[in-house]
Amino acid sequence: ATPMSVMVGVGKAAEYGILIRQGEALQTSSQLDTIVLDKTGTITEGKPAVTDIVCNEGQQEDTVLTLAASVESGSEHPLATAILNESKQRELSLDSASEFQALNGKGVTATIQGKTYRLGNRRWLESEGVNINLDSTSLTDKGVTPLFLSEANTLLGIIGVADRIKDDSKAAIARLKDQGLKVIMITGDIAASANAIAEQAGVDEVMAEVLPEDKAKKIQALQSEGRTVAMVGDGINDAPALAQADVGFAIGTGTDVAIESAAITLMGGSLHGVPDAMAISSATVRNIK
Ligand code: ADP
Ligand code: MG
Repeated sequence: ATPMSVMVGVGKAAEYGILIRQGEALQTSSQLDTIVLDKTGTITEGKPAVTDIVCNEGQQEDTVLTLAASVESGSEHPLATAILNESKQRELSLDSASEFQALNGKGVTATIQGKTYRLGNRRWLESEGVNINLDSTSLTDKGVTPLFLSEANTLLGIIGVADRIKDDSKAAIARLKDQGLKVIMITGDIAASANAIAEQAGVDEVMAEVLPEDKAKKIQALQSEGRTVAMVGDGINDAPALAQADVGFAIGTGTDVAIESAAITLMGGSLHGVPDAMAISSATVRNIK
């Protein structure tokens, strides 16, 4: 590859809001056959909001929300922001929580007035011995993520949180599929909610309930099948997978860690940057030959 044609390609990409930090990534992009897309903040806006509160017997919406927000007050996860925003909107005053702990891919726990509360996904609460006696399928069927709130072994309620799909995600994904690429969505979220979002976005294949530390392993497994894989992500969670991929695309509005781990940054955050980068890459490689 001539350094000149790569420079031209990098310049062309910049006009499209695609920042290429490693010239090599521009050449590899034309060879990609598989695109793995993170869900939250990549396919979706990454600004979830509370949509539903389901109370267990004897509980009230505002009590459940107050406890959930108090437990989340030490977290910077987008799900925590959603719950804290809702409690602010309802002008609820939070309880003071101590012994706060965030567990990657599971949820958060804290102590309030001597009682231990947990807020997180079903699998984690079940493994802690919580009796899940409320149904969440009405939430998951519409792509809402259910967060379960417990005190000791008792389920107090479910808070449903949902995130909008970015306006152009579906069109960008359709372009990738038209180019014959295998498009996969990867997420720590549960399968039921993830599948609903995938369907809305036009993604056929979903890897759900993937713990943060396992995202890179999933990329590696695809590579060992002989695939040339791009990872597109925005979160701290995605950093190892972005580094493992043949080409990592970071969403420009995402976390610094993701941007530093990826060869390419999509400035505007639109997924159209991926097929655009591949087209520029093909043109560059043709010039080189
Ligand atoms: P993603 O891959 O979609 O960015 P994460 O790996 O961050 O998701 O989280 C996966 C799941 O773990 C969430 O869908 C949620 O059920 C649970 N979880 C993680 N962090 C929190 C939190 N701060 N509060 C509640 N639940 C959480
Ligand atoms: Mg994300």
